[in-house]
Amino acid sequence: MNVVVCVKQIPDPAAPQALDPETRTLIRQGKLILDDSDAYGVEMGLQLANQAGGDVVTLVSMAPNGETSGLRTALAMGADKAILVSDDALRGSDALSTAKVLAKAIERAEPDLIIAATESTDGYTGTFPVQLAELLGLPSITFAKKVTVGDGTVVVDRQTEAGYDEVECPLPALVTVTAGVVEPRYPSFKGIMAAKSKPLEQLTVADLGLDASQVGAAGSRQEVTDVSAADERKAGEIVQDEGDGYEYVVRFLEQLKLI
Ligand SMILES: Cc1cc2nc3c(=O)[nH]c(=O)nc-3n(C[C@H](O)[C@H](O)[C@H](O)COP(=O)(O)OP(=O)(O)OC[C@H]3O[C@@H](n4cnc5c(N)ncnc54)[C@H](O)[C@@H]3O)c2cc1C
Repeated sequence: MNVVVCVKQIPDPAAPQALDPETRTLIRQGKLILDDSDAYGVEMGLQLANQAGGDVVTLVSMAPNGETSGLRTALAMGADKAILVSDDALRGSDALSTAKVLAKAIERAEPDLIIAATESTDGYTGTFPVQLAELLGLPSITFAKKVTVGDGTVVVDRQTEAGYDEVECPLPALVTVTAGVVEPRYPSFKGIMAAKSKPLEQLTVADLGLDASQVGAAGSRQEVTDVSAADERKAGEIVQDEGDGYEYVVRFLEQLKLI
């Protein structure tokens, strides 16, 4: 089985961030790291590949400036190889044009299963994975909290507000995973050393048979028209426990639909 994992490389969320004053999009310069959301997808791909035996896990990423740091982290976790699409013509890409580019790159890997995160953690839309599935003509299952593969099908426990649905579909297919689907491993020293020599193919827009007018700002249909600061976090509520504090906790969790 060929498993492809989509890996978004993002600026370190712990470092100060800035928006481009003209495009109002996040400035992505310098080292980019593996998005935490995608560490779950990588781990899921590795575990499924391990169970079947002899499977190949290929990472696919689109990122500026030939950036590979996040991909190397995922290779160090155990993925076999990676494909990076990087090209100046991709600047200003929206989610759909990102999907068009990565669909072309992913076709080359002939995947049986494509894994992505439900949403990324930087400038996220949560729309990229389903657009990708549509462009590839594949079924997709979103919000997976458990994934099993067997005999040409994928079975997913799909998180809902009320609990979860069990959904099954034939392979090839795309699945988006939630945080908590599995516990991502830390790359070992041996893994980090091995990652340095794993195959990492770098592709341009032309390599994918696309024209510069179909991608980047030229091919995008979305535009960021305004940006405003998020509301400040409100101070927490202090509850005096006079023996009935647990009732408040239960009511609070019920409101959040956690119980
Ligand atoms: C109007 C607009 C303008 C933009 N301009 C720029 C820009 O100038 N420069 C720039 O760098 N970005 C830009 N972006 C963001 C970039 O194109 C995103 O990669 C794209 O929007 C999809 O990411 P997302 O976070 O919205 O996807 P989501 O749907 O939130 O992501 C879910 C999952 O999809 C996968 N995924 C998403 N993006 C990638 C990727 N690039 N590579 C591999 N897997 C991926 C990952 O598994 C991710 O966790 C722009 C986005 C918009 C909407």
